[in-house]
Amino acid sequence: MAKRTIFLITTLMTVSLLGVIFLQYNLIRTAMNVNEQRYDEALQDALNNTARDLEAKEATEINVSANGYNSGMGKTAGIVAGDLTRDLPRPGLLGGKNLQLSEQPSYRLRLQTQYAARPLVERIDREFLDRRLQTAFENADLKGDIEYGVYDVRNKEFVSRNGRLLSTIGADTARHLDLLRSSYRVSLYDTETDAAGYLLAYSPRKGSVIFNTILNNLLASLLFISIILGCFVYTIYVILFQKKLSEMKTDFINNMTHEFKTPIATISLATDSIMSPKVTGSPDKVMRFAHIIKQENKRMNDQVEKVLQMAKLDKNRLNLNLTEVDLNDVIIEAGEYIRLQVEPRGGSVVVIPEADPSSVEGDMTHLASLVNNLLDNANKYSPEAPQIVVSTRNVPTGVEVTILDHGLGMSREARKNIFDRFYRVHTGDRHDVKGFGLGLSYVKTITEVHGGSIRIESELGKGSSFIVTFPYEQR
Ligand code: ADP
Repeated sequence: MAKRTIFLITTLMTVSLLGVIFLQYNLIRTAMNVNEQRYDEALQDALNNTARDLEAKEATEINVSANGYNSGMGKTAGIVAGDLTRDLPRPGLLGGKNLQLSEQPSYRLRLQTQYAARPLVERIDREFLDRRLQTAFENADLKGDIEYGVYDVRNKEFVSRNGRLLSTIGADTARHLDLLRSSYRVSLYDTETDAAGYLLAYSPRKGSVIFNTILNNLLASLLFISIILGCFVYTIYVILFQKKLSEMKTDFINNMTHEFKTPIATISLATDSIMSPKVTGSPDKVMRFAHIIKQENKRMNDQVEKVLQMAKLDKNRLNLNLTEVDLNDVIIEAGEYIRLQVEPRGGSVVVIPEADPSSVEGDMTHLASLVNNLLDNANKYSPEAPQIVVSTRNVPTGVEVTILDHGLGMSREARKNIFDRFYRVHTGDRHDVKGFGLGLSYVKTITEVHGGSIRIESELGKGSSFIVTFPYEQR
């Protein structure tokens, strides 16, 4: 997939995802606003209804009292209206038998005035108020511990809070500012000019109550968005990984073609020569060219073998032939071998076999091959005269082998990938360093099957150190 397509898909997906997140956010916010509005209305309704009930209760009392009076049962009215009527001049005493029906409205009026003159604290029936409010809250499904209280306008103080008389919990207004400032309020015993008091309510946990109503939706949205995001990131990762893999394979094929071109050309030249009449007559020359063909053939065969072996390298199917391997001997021998290639280039190889004890349990062939691979790379990736140091030393976990060069070095990106099969650092058009990108993947596999570890210290342009540690014994 082209880079542009990947970029386009990523951008489209990101924009869409942001769009979905924004829409979800808006939906949830709207839902919260609607729920808050409903909550406010329900709470205000509960207050209104309770206030009306209180007033209706008083009106009924007055009515009963007045009606009792009207039917000449002043006594009954007195009982119904309680102490209030006791203070009123009894109609019987005033007019005796001359009681007029027309006197009833004025009696009702006086009764009303009498009621209105009472202090608010006496006028409200706290138990009734409490019961009505609680029922109203329950009916409206209003959650959260709602605080409520009655405020006396004339005395400028609260008379009750949550159904308790304020004389028991303190009437100091400063302690009830939360209620006093609340916008949930309804006036009590309204007259044309003023109100005797207010019934106020306040919900300290309103925020969390409203939030709880959308919590499930919010969690579900978050879950689905996370799933989409996760899948999106994974898909992009797979696309990029596949792209990298396919690039690496293309590189590998290019390298392979490059590696075979030289021997094929040489073989072609040699056969042409053999076929030329000048050579055909000379068995010596034919032999020489046949020898060249054989050599090039072997070289190609070796290459194929190397590729096949490394490409097939499977940790689980690798049979190790474990013996005691002296790593000092291994580096001395490998050092000798690489010196043959390094010295003609004007370079040097320093071998420091410092470890004592220097033997570990391992497969001799693979361990030697591992060190050779690293030394080969140290030589290959040193463009100038290679300066190579190969050493061993003891560490708590076993024996450490270090191969140090002052060559090309590696970037961070390269350090991360060089152990991947087929990975090669891009050197532009330079084809002078040959390879298939399999050596280090082999090195890593061999280190791991021996229970060891490998790390790199490298800086671009300065050189690299490959540090491999092997445990003394295999478990
Ligand atoms: P190959 O050498 O066949 O390309 P390797 O697996 O041995 O494959 O190495 C992978 C890549 O790591 C190389 O292409 C090279 O860019 C980088 N590399 C390995 N060793 C060194 C080193 N000593 N210095 C700098 N780069 C190195």
